Amino acid sequence: MSFDLNSLLRPHIAQLQPYTSARDEYTGKEGVFLDANENPYGSVTDADFNRYPDPYQSALKEKIALIKKVRPSQIFLGNGSDEAIDLLYRAFCRPGIDNVILLPPTYGMYEVSASINDVETRKVSLTSDFQLQPEKIFDQIDSNTKIIFVCTPNNPSGNKVNRADVLLLLKHFKGLVVVDEAYIDFNDEPSFTTHLDEYPNLLVMQTFSKAWGLASLRLGMAFASEELIKILNKIKPPYNISGLTQETVLAALGNQEKVEKMILEILKEREFLKSELEKLDFVKKIHPSQANFLLVQVPQATQIYNDLIDQKIIVRNRAKVLLCEDCLRITVGTREENTAFLKALQAVVKPIQS
Ligand SMILES: *Cc1c(COP(=O)(O)O)cnc(C)c1O
Repeated sequence: MSFDLNSLLRPHIAQLQPYTSARDEYTGKEGVFLDANENPYGSVTDADFNRYPDPYQSALKEKIALIKKVRPSQIFLGNGSDEAIDLLYRAFCRPGIDNVILLPPTYGMYEVSASINDVETRKVSLTSDFQLQPEKIFDQIDSNTKIIFVCTPNNPSGNKVNRADVLLLLKHFKGLVVVDEAYIDFNDEPSFTTHLDEYPNLLVMQTFSKAWGLASLRLGMAFASEELIKILNKIKPPYNISGLTQETVLAALGNQEKVEKMILEILKEREFLKSELEKLDFVKKIHPSQANFLLVQVPQATQIYNDLIDQKIIVRNRAKVLLCEDCLRITVGTREENTAFLKALQAVVKPIQS
């Protein structure tokens, strides 16, 4: 089916004249810089932060491009993945008119961001084993449907969704298919970025918040066609990624060995946590996970959740979420943390069971 990015775009965004920053108009590195009203003496810190950062994060994108096997022009960097999600709504969804399709249970920000932007969400639940229902998704699509959000591995369930189902959406849907791969580093499935040149309606999101251990820096990646990336760049705040974040992540990218070591450790701990939970007869179900967390069904999840907090063990209560009845989402911790969790879990369950 034909895909036309320009007809998908909100008309006023197509016509928008973007802000041109001082660093847009002159990109050289040498000279006397009297163009951006910066402080010429430096910063009130040990390090100097007085100059505005590169608005397009060129050095960082070149390095990411090599690692992710895409072109730099196919990369958008945001202040967390959440910024890309918000910009997509603002670029493509007319408030009160357009709609997007969400596949619950899934990441909460797709819906919150839709609400902020006054965009209708149409929900097509996953199956009981958290797979897509393509037929039902296609039933919900109309001429104002702009985006379908797919999360794989999915949060909060932890599983991968069947690749063939996502490809079916990419083939037949004339709007954008966003594939959120926040947890891609915890499984060996190839990224959907390998399909970028095939599907101009594909946008893949990844993040430095999980496997890379850089959640506090706020850096999310979006990969898409050059045309789509240009649109996001056009409407983003000019200096959306701080200089400190750009420099720190650039340095981090040179230490891939450490990430890989940490990922292996987390995968080992995920198996440990799973096998220990399997030994507990009150645990009703441990959902298969390709991520760095486990979705676990227990009796009276909310009470267990509260009792765990009293023991200073904080997990995520998903008990009221569709298809996650009585489930807790437990992030894989270090061996010490996992052991502390397992001990506290057994202690709080005893009085509930008796
Ligand atoms: C954690 C997570 C993100 C990451 O968001 P950032 O804003 O990049 O920290 C994105 N999507 C999903 C599904 C997540 O669970």
